[in-house]
Amino acid sequence: VLTPAEYIWMDGRLVAWQDAQVHVLTQSLHYGWAVYEGIRAHETADGTLAVFRLRDHLARLTRSARVYRMDIPYTEDELAAATTDLIAAGGHGPRYVRPLVYLGYGSMGVALDLSAVRVALASWEWEEQAARNWRLMTSSWRRTHQDTIPPLAKATGAYLNSSLAKLAAVRAGYDDALLLTDAGHLSESSAANVFLVRSGVLHTPPVHEGILPGITRATVLELARAAGIPVQERPLSHAEAYTCDELFLTGTAIGIVPVESLDDRPTALPAPGPVTTALREAYRDAVAGKNTPSADWLTSVRVP
Ligand code: PMP
Repeated sequence: VLTPAEYIWMDGRLVAWQDAQVHVLTQSLHYGWAVYEGIRAHETADGTLAVFRLRDHLARLTRSARVYRMDIPYTEDELAAATTDLIAAGGHGPRYVRPLVYLGYGSMGVALDLSAVRVALASWEWEEQAARNWRLMTSSWRRTHQDTIPPLAKATGAYLNSSLAKLAAVRAGYDDALLLTDAGHLSESSAANVFLVRSGVLHTPPVHEGILPGITRATVLELARAAGIPVQERPLSHAEAYTCDELFLTGTAIGIVPVESLDDRPTALPAPGPVTTALREAYRDAVAGKNTPSADWLTSVRVP
């Protein structure tokens, strides 16, 4: 449940929510040429707010922008400061932050005017949903190939693929879609990375398979290694998802979500299984500043 904050940061200044407008001829609206991030600030054990892996999100934003030839007119330091300022202006509760780098009004036509780069940061109050297991459906839509629209860049246009899959799954009564690569391997869900557990070993598709290199994915891999859980990043066949013990999804917005079935085939162990549960607890702690593997992962926000 998301309630938008009163102010939105647009090109260096805070504007009132209702004034955060763009022109209808904004190039990104016509061609889907924009990149973005989804970032969360969590309440920590000592009652303060901390943005989780802010630097990693901003670094990914920069990499996504490079794929689409956009020079962000702010440094990562400036964007980090803008993010924490925006959160502080919004009050004390946990928040979701959405940086967006897009092309404003420029030329009309696919030879885009790349000089019209604009940046917005929006934020929402975050209300945690009750934990529940998800049911997945294999999508009839394949994940975009890395040589068409590369999944490693978090670009708005790429979400045409995600939304086609998500809408079909939700309409069919499932929580989310699992997309396969061109080769028929597991890629990811509409907006989360996928993991499976078999015989105590954690498996997830490698980044070169054509997935978004999720920051939660990287966090989970690190937490698993620290907990002595063996990890394999390798191409996974569709059937492996039907025959695993546990299945779960990871993402900034959803955290770690246990999956109880894929195409109505339940996982061997009832969700959430033991590895999912252990990692979910470790992740909950890490974002809240308890046993966080690296101090760099938390950027505290001083709310006045
Ligand atoms: N894959 C896709 C397609 C996504 O949209 C997201 C959400 N950003 C993820 C994976 C998970 O990435 P992260 O853990 O960095 O939020």
